[in-house]
Amino acid sequence: MRARILAIDFVNDDDRFGLVLERFSQNETRLCLRPIVGIHHQQDAVDHLHDALDFAAEIGVTWSVNDVDAITVPLKGGILGANGIVGAGFAIATGAAYSAKLTGDGRVAVAFFGDGAANQGVFMETLNVSSLWKLPVIFVCEHNGFSEFSPAATVTSGEIVDRARAFKISCEVIDGNDVLAVAKATSAAIEGARAGRGPAFIEAKTYRIQGHFEAEHLFLAGAKYRELDEIESWRKRDPIDRFGQFLLDQGKADARQLSDIETRVAKRVDEAVRFAQTSEPADTEIAFDLMFDGQKA
Ligand SMILES: [Mg+2]
Repeated sequence: MRARILAIDFVNDDDRFGLVLERFSQNETRLCLRPIVGIHHQQDAVDHLHDALDFAAEIGVTWSVNDVDAITVPLKGGILGANGIVGAGFAIATGAAYSAKLTGDGRVAVAFFGDGAANQGVFMETLNVSSLWKLPVIFVCEHNGFSEFSPAATVTSGEIVDRARAFKISCEVIDGNDVLAVAKATSAAIEGARAGRGPAFIEAKTYRIQGHFEAEHLFLAGAKYRELDEIESWRKRDPIDRFGQFLLDQGKADARQLSDIETRVAKRVDEAVRFAQTSEPADTEIAFDLMFDGQKA
């Protein structure tokens, strides 16, 4: 797949890894962490990237990495990046928590994962060791009911929270579409971790409104793995809408303020899309330099 590289920044001292904003198609722009070789800083690219990072932080875009097996390079702001292996984040976060414990720097590692990833063996390994060593790590399971195209009930036995309970880890099962419930559970877990009480597990019950990926209808070729009315019923529980309603009910915001926020965010999205659409395509030849160090054929 040909991707336009829109911006690059480097995240560690020897410039071996970079943040890359790439446009894969008209509807798909990703912020990726990649090994970078043979490209030097360009101030305009860096400026664009900083805008992109601000935008990503504002709208909560998830980081992604493509075709890279494992990334463990600490990023600015304490983000450890993503990786190409489902469930690998458990071990990366547990390692980071071990580091925090050894240095006593008060940091807490958080591993976000899905219900599908909870079936990886490394989940149980890291629950065990993090509980045993009282590591400051929070395991946050975003249980959205599907592992790719498989309903959870067809691939997951029992309750995921029971796996954490078996290791005597503090557990909470919450409504993942309730902003305040998420904030409360997270605060308590982090406080406990900082106080030396060890790991915590949070299972946030939610739903995946979008497909496993945007073009999944092409992949499915007419096959169906869920019903439309199920999607629509969950759409009504949108956490942003619900929190907006909460703010209105509590008199913390009025309709005009909420509408202004929506307008501002929509404008930022439009600007990002326009930027992506008007950027020059990258030279596909540099793919060899981006992916392999000195291995150009
Ligand atoms: Mg899932």
